[in-house]
Amino acid sequence: MTQDNNKPNAHRFETLTIHAGSAPDETTGAVGTPIHQAVSYKFKDTKQAAGVFSLKEMGFIYSRINNPTVAALEEKLAALENGVGATCTPSGLSASLLIFTALMNTGDDFISSCKIYGGTTSQFRDTFKRSFGWGCTFVDPTDIDNFKRAITDKTKVIFAESISNPEGFVMDIEALARIAEDAKIPLIIDNTVATPFLCRPFDYGADIITHSTTKYLSGHGQAMGGAVVDGGSFDWIKNADRYPALGKDDPSYHNVVFGRDFAEMPIAIHNHAVGLRDLGMNQQPMNAYLTLLGMETLPLRMERHSENAMKVAEYLQSHPAVAWVNFAGLKDSPSHALGKKYLRDGMSSSLFTFGLKGGYDSAVSVVESVKIFTHLANIGDTRSLMIHPASTTHSELHEDQKVKAGALPEALRVSIGLEHIDDIINDLDQALSHAAQMAA
Ligand code: PLP
Repeated sequence: MTQDNNKPNAHRFETLTIHAGSAPDETTGAVGTPIHQAVSYKFKDTKQAAGVFSLKEMGFIYSRINNPTVAALEEKLAALENGVGATCTPSGLSASLLIFTALMNTGDDFISSCKIYGGTTSQFRDTFKRSFGWGCTFVDPTDIDNFKRAITDKTKVIFAESISNPEGFVMDIEALARIAEDAKIPLIIDNTVATPFLCRPFDYGADIITHSTTKYLSGHGQAMGGAVVDGGSFDWIKNADRYPALGKDDPSYHNVVFGRDFAEMPIAIHNHAVGLRDLGMNQQPMNAYLTLLGMETLPLRMERHSENAMKVAEYLQSHPAVAWVNFAGLKDSPSHALGKKYLRDGMSSSLFTFGLKGGYDSAVSVVESVKIFTHLANIGDTRSLMIHPASTTHSELHEDQKVKAGALPEALRVSIGLEHIDDIINDLDQALSHAAQMAA
């Protein structure tokens, strides 16, 4: 089931969130996707067994490689992103590990926006370099030409977040895709905070999308997960020397060439057949099931998240204790124009930062005074969440990296939930008065 709003009878996003990948169970008729808590799958005969092992036919072999419940989630994600296939992983960070191992070779470099989640920064800056020798150049995305200037012969990937965590910066995806295309480098967009309901990076030229499904896609904060979605757009065969895993023959599969033999969804097939097989980071069926359940209400939740966040941002902007509010929905936000272009119907998701006039001490005091907001390290939950990024999620960043990522000492990150807006604002009101009293 695919989406194309230009075709009169195509299914709309809301319909796909419920039906794509989730047909009733053929044996029992159960409408919900069953949790296939299986490790392996009985072969019909030796011919079929040999066929699935050599990739001559598709089928389930062993749950490290594929699993029916996880496959249902993969199909839904691919449909929602307008991609050609997807591969789920146990977390968002394992999704980036999976796709980078497919595209990078020892000694290669890549470029990343500096406005990204702190955990991804550490993965790129430290672990990728130490373990694989991949060098990352972080660039400031507020000047898109910084990406162009950073490209060298060794650059194999360009990476950015559609809406950045924690700052809520909206990426100029189309301009970045043009730079990537001119240099024949695949563009990966982490679409976690926007979700495909608000933004579909493939429509603007991205080649691959990553997700932490742990966040808004699940929506309930009860299941970790990640995904790599294949846009099917990059020509791996033309660029075979630079991307040998996709463009050249694979000796572990009788010299299959993924970019040629699976030209319709090379990344999705490679990520299962090689990536999950060798790295062993398959998503658990229980988590796929929980994510599927959550995703059925994604459009409704994103609308309410965005509406509540807009009201909270306006309230904070007029509060005397607040120095600044960084929310793309606000007209004076640096991301407002890009938000209007890339995000659906003026919505901006519900993740943003605001700064306290009283600096670090006031910020900490607000976190400690909130009652409806939960102080924790997650985003995209039904609950409203708050954290001080500079001392937690982004604490591993160097001081200049914190500033560039928007994790300033006075900044608080909020993920506005689905509680009644009056209760959310009343809670902030009492916490901000407490901070103001402390500062007086
Ligand atoms: N990408 C973004 C934008 C995130 O916010 C996060 C986590 O906060 C991740 C990736 C990593 O996801 P996970 O925690 O599921 O590994």
